[in-house]
Amino acid sequence: MPKNLLKHHDREEPMTGKHQITTMCPMNCLPTQCGMTVEVAENTLLSLTGDQHNPDSQGFLCIRGRATQEIFANPKRLLYPLRRAGQRGEDRWERCSWEEAYSLIVDAIQHTQPERVGLWRGHGAGTTGPTGTMLVNRFGLLGGFQQWASSIICWAMGGYGLGLTGTLSTSTKEDMAAHSRTILLWGATLASQPDLAPHLVAARKRGAYVIHIDTRRTEASRHADEVFLIRPGTDAALALAIAQVILTEKLYDQEFIEQYTLGFAPFAEHVQTCTPAWAAEITGLEPDRIRALARLYAQQTPAVIVLGGSSMFKHQHGWEASRAISCLPALTGQLGIAGGGMGQRHGAAPEGVGYADVLADAPAKIPAEAAIPSHMTSITEAMSAGQLDVLFLFGTNMLSSFADSNALARGLERINLIVSHDLFLNATSRRYADLLLPATAWLEDLGLKQTATHIYLMERALAPAGECRSLVTILRELAQRLAIAHFFPWQDEEEYVSALLAAQQTATGEALTVAELRRHGGYWQKNGLSHIAYQNHLFATPSQKVELWRERAHQAGLSPLPSYTPPATADYPLRFCQGRTLTAFHAFFDEGQALPTLARANPGPQLWIHPQDAQKRQIASDAPIVIANQRGQFEARAHVTSDILPGVVWMRDGWSGLNRVTSGAPIVSPAANNLVPGAPGGQAAYDAWVEVRALA
Ligand code: SF4
Repeated sequence: MPKNLLKHHDREEPMTGKHQITTMCPMNCLPTQCGMTVEVAENTLLSLTGDQHNPDSQGFLCIRGRATQEIFANPKRLLYPLRRAGQRGEDRWERCSWEEAYSLIVDAIQHTQPERVGLWRGHGAGTTGPTGTMLVNRFGLLGGFQQWASSIICWAMGGYGLGLTGTLSTSTKEDMAAHSRTILLWGATLASQPDLAPHLVAARKRGAYVIHIDTRRTEASRHADEVFLIRPGTDAALALAIAQVILTEKLYDQEFIEQYTLGFAPFAEHVQTCTPAWAAEITGLEPDRIRALARLYAQQTPAVIVLGGSSMFKHQHGWEASRAISCLPALTGQLGIAGGGMGQRHGAAPEGVGYADVLADAPAKIPAEAAIPSHMTSITEAMSAGQLDVLFLFGTNMLSSFADSNALARGLERINLIVSHDLFLNATSRRYADLLLPATAWLEDLGLKQTATHIYLMERALAPAGECRSLVTILRELAQRLAIAHFFPWQDEEEYVSALLAAQQTATGEALTVAELRRHGGYWQKNGLSHIAYQNHLFATPSQKVELWRERAHQAGLSPLPSYTPPATADYPLRFCQGRTLTAFHAFFDEGQALPTLARANPGPQLWIHPQDAQKRQIASDAPIVIANQRGQFEARAHVTSDILPGVVWMRDGWSGLNRVTSGAPIVSPAANNLVPGAPGGQAAYDAWVEVRALA
């Protein structure tokens, strides 16, 4: 081992005696993050409960959070570096040392060009918040490697539409609970944002009226006064019809529109034909219900829209939904007021100060012309064209999250070295990885989590199991061996975490540090927090107005006005959708199967199908079925339920076979990818029309 290499920060002595430590759930329901209290003794986790004092979660932990205690002492956990023994896909491994693992990686990188090395990180890389994920970015920037925003499999498409209008910032759940008179849960599930539930309950106790708009009944419906089930992918049509009613019945806020919006005249002309009757044909709702919804939203104010994070945008014209919906608060003057605007959304934040930028001094070394954009179709195509030699998978089961996983699999086959850093094996690493690096779990690292309103410290409570190492350690080791200068300019991990906190100022004007955060019990309310977004009426667009007309979208080949595009004609009868449940988190923990509690709750893929559709196909509830289309097929069990519309089928996301049937076509072109800073439009369509049959 070269002399100048790092000492192992992960190899600390286990704590002795019984300790109680406050930390955070390692999942990334962002901005929901729940506090945990853990008890440890002799380097063993004794108990894990909800942190009663956490100002956000107040003791709440869902089944996913509680199940994380099963990571430790889990016989399936990866504990040592493993090298592939047989052919890819044989799932045969042999133990190797960390030195051998590093040498294999360094050798592969040094025998190719940096732009032929790719970094893909999933939610599993963010279990300790930004500490690992920011360093992956820094490693990619300074190493000149390809790296992509993982938001393109999740919330980015919703953010893209909102960003075109200029209303990305959210008001808080506390504001909703205290002030909203009408609450539209539009595609929002509590599975993604469980901490909304007590605030919804509080709002309803106060008399707020809650409406749930979705393609299926979910746990959110139970908190609603009215449920609107609409056909998938028709949200934009509904929003345009609401706008039409608001304009026709003069329910709009003239003063707000004149002062703070751009493009009202062409917008008003554009929506004239988007009548409730027009939208009724598309959405499946009655025209009168659409009219009533528009009147309620415009008149029973303040009214907040809590928009879904991800699933509702997974279709060929996914950006149109958030683009159209985000215009409604501007028409009615609901932005910048208590109880109005856009509410808590996955991946979004209210106005306030978060983490410091630890990438500002890390210029991208990759030549712009060599960079593969954060555009899913382009990434898959680049892999299939043999443009990558090395791929790192950090905390991700890539096959479970990329659309058209058949095409992705063909691309993965062409990569010479695939390295997976994770807690467990998963479908992608079993089939394609050449090297497995065992990851530390969150109690074995120092970390931070950020909710909409607070930053929390995650203390290290346990020494790493086996030879597991953190992302921070591995990247530092690799950067040293690859001579990536200035990669880790901090003395140690705590100094690095303090650098992330440096954007927060203490009462005496000092930068917040880990030590100071500890003195505050690990909780920190963010500086400059505003519970109400856009009180200054300055919006995140070139004109600083709400842009009902977006000129740059026009130039990039998109409709400059909010629009609805009908789906292409389908060759199969059932529209396939996917989403989140309370008992799973994407493909975490080998699709939930590595943790006994989650495996019991998710014994296998289950497809929601309406009784009419099931009867037509002679499918009984819980019967084994095959879901198939021109791209491939996937086996599951039927869940026959009238909580979904006829003609639509739905499944929990994260099952790796699911994306064999989804489309990897782009939604927007690479030219239109970067119209909204921080929210690339590079999600693929994920559209799928399928047939379902009973398995013989
Ligand atoms: S809601 Fe999310 S953050 Fe909270 S306990 Fe469940 S998984 Fe963890």
